[in-house]
Amino acid sequence: PPCAGMSFGPQPRRNTRAVTVGGVQVGGNAPVVVQSMTNTDTADVASTTRQVAELWRAGSELVRITVNTPEAAAAVPRIVDKLAMMGLSVPIIGDFHYNGHQLLTGEPACAEALAKYRINPGNVGFGKKKDTQFATLIEFAIKYGKPVRIGANWGSLDQALATQLMDENHKLAEPKEAAEVLREALIRSALDSAARAVEIGLPAERIVLSAKVSGVQELIAVYRELARRSDFALHLGLTEAGIGSKGIVASSAALGVLLQEGIGDTIRISLTPEPGQSRTTEVIVAQELLQTMGLRAFTPMVTACPGCGRTTSTFFQELAQRVQEHVRAKMPEWKITHPGAENLTLAVMGCVVNGPGESRHANIGISLPGTGEAPSAPVFEDGEKTVTLRGENIAQDFVGLIDQYVER
Ligand code: SF4
Repeated sequence: PPCAGMSFGPQPRRNTRAVTVGGVQVGGNAPVVVQSMTNTDTADVASTTRQVAELWRAGSELVRITVNTPEAAAAVPRIVDKLAMMGLSVPIIGDFHYNGHQLLTGEPACAEALAKYRINPGNVGFGKKKDTQFATLIEFAIKYGKPVRIGANWGSLDQALATQLMDENHKLAEPKEAAEVLREALIRSALDSAARAVEIGLPAERIVLSAKVSGVQELIAVYRELARRSDFALHLGLTEAGIGSKGIVASSAALGVLLQEGIGDTIRISLTPEPGQSRTTEVIVAQELLQTMGLRAFTPMVTACPGCGRTTSTFFQELAQRVQEHVRAKMPEWKITHPGAENLTLAVMGCVVNGPGESRHANIGISLPGTGEAPSAPVFEDGEKTVTLRGENIAQDFVGLIDQYVER
């Protein structure tokens, strides 16, 4: 048969070095960690603290903030203190470009307060200054016992390295495609910088690598190569993924393939928020990607049919949305009172065609009658029909049954 020999499920996770970031383990077979990044001015302590808390409450286990000015560096310890006063021990990662060595030198309290430093090898310095400035950042990490992410990026590729590899390529009898050489420059930028950090004295167990690009196929190729050539923990993310559904689809396609191959220890979905859209969307997308792939569980999963000509009223969509929002809102409480609730599956189905069957497969499911039929909706729990809901309060009653199920 055509499927003979095909395995079910993701490949074993790649065996990476475990890195501890503010108490959260990344790599070394720990569950894939979800992280995100603020878009506030870090110098604005109140706004940044508020957004970090919002991302953390949504499920971001690490939160990165930009540290780009002396004012931002000075704000970092205050943000960390404020979060602690709110009872939130969020590991904060400082994102440094160009002047990180100066900022940490001028504000050692920032170096101490951060849980990790992100260093971009493409813009940490140029020419002779590069090594000194990179070494300064690594020495701060050594002094304060912090991990770093060496985060190379297609948009800020180390130009000197790229030029050197292009020159070498031109001398070959059979030169490679330019795109392939530039991919190699990105990979080498990350790997060579990590090797230099180790040479300076940073333990390899305090290094996470990333090499982000904005194309799906390029990202998959780059990370397969990084995974083949090192055992550092890897931070996955499609950079500049885009706005709305495009960003979600592109990120999920790229990260889904890599995660299925066991590659990736922490992920960030970089979405451009649509006007009015919350920053927390990217956290929910990251969680849903991991959960739908069966890699982690965060909140009960709602299965819902798309609806069709049999469901011309909007009640069905409204119920599906209400159930999804209800379980998401309840999960922080259930996490403490009913651990394991995140593994439940729920079904909200539009009519009898697939409704009873899909509802029986869920822990608890409801099969609506479709449009124009009598308003009665059988509910199934653990494969058995338990009750038929009728009347105007079907939605409220079904949400109540979900709560009772979790209680039991
Ligand atoms: Fe349409 Fe019914 Fe299938 Fe839902 S279950 S898509 S309402 S036929």
